[in-house]
Amino acid sequence: MPQPFLTRDLRLAPNGIYIDPPQPQDRAIITHGHADHARFGHGAVLATPDTIAIMKARWGEDAAGSWDELPFGETRQLPGGVTVSLHPAGHILGSAQVLLEHKGRRIVVTGDYKRLDDRTAQPFELCKCDLLVTEATFGLPVFQHPRPADEIARLLRSIAAFPDRAHVIGCYALGKAQRVISLLREAGHNAPIYLHGAMVKLCALYEERGIRLGDLRLSLDASKSEMAGQIVIAPPSAIKDRWSRRLPDPVLAVASGWMSVKQRARQSGVELPLVISDHADWNELRRTITETGAETIWVTHGREDALVYWCQQQGLLAEPLRIEAYEDGEEGE
Ligand SMILES: [Zn+2]
Ligand SMILES: [Zn+2]
Repeated sequence: MPQPFLTRDLRLAPNGIYIDPPQPQDRAIITHGHADHARFGHGAVLATPDTIAIMKARWGEDAAGSWDELPFGETRQLPGGVTVSLHPAGHILGSAQVLLEHKGRRIVVTGDYKRLDDRTAQPFELCKCDLLVTEATFGLPVFQHPRPADEIARLLRSIAAFPDRAHVIGCYALGKAQRVISLLREAGHNAPIYLHGAMVKLCALYEERGIRLGDLRLSLDASKSEMAGQIVIAPPSAIKDRWSRRLPDPVLAVASGWMSVKQRARQSGVELPLVISDHADWNELRRTITETGAETIWVTHGREDALVYWCQQQGLLAEPLRIEAYEDGEEGE
């Protein structure tokens, strides 16, 4: 491939626009609302309408100097002869892959993505390209995510087995919380689901944007005895603090792709680890790389080396990108 028109820090060479920059920039294209991709303080932000709504809800109307909504599938001409369009990444509501076209070459930056069904996110769309910049959060062969419906079934069996206890599920407030609630509804769990206060705003935003989550209540408003046999969704950081002592003998659960690492679950004192991931696993990553037809692969955002090695074995040009991350690096795993 001739010199790509994207630099290795995800800056468009013809116009200086960055994708998911970790530092404030004049112009940025944002793949989705998680804090390791979207941040406060860019001059102008181009993103999907859902992502812009999420950024405004989290950080305020003035989180960027100006907002440019680009719906999925529409194209926009950028300075320097670059055309951009956004395509569903299936990761959280509004999450997008960025397709860039310049002089007949196509580059796709996946952002975070997954290909499993998820009623709370627009379904992943495969984009053919010459250069693929893929995430690699779960880029090791050990990561083979189970079916989410099976994990939810384990949770429901635990609730049936312990009708006097509350089940507290640690979930990131953006994406994971709404997905777990939606999976519970799909599994026929129609009882009220209780929310820690930190979950309320983003659940309400999902509802406003057409994602039905059913009967949600604030856990603070419920008495201890009412909470027996109920499900409470809380931030992972809250499940072990004083807040959860108001609940009857809580079963501590966490929903995360990392819960497949048994030691990690044990160390965090999680009684019921639920392996529910919003990222592609090892098989999905490899399948996607192959199906895009890209001859050059840049791997970022996670465990780059194993995936780079696998790509090279397939005869692809591949290299890791070492992009500076900042503190909330694991939001929404
Ligand atoms: Zn994310
Ligand atoms: Zn991410």
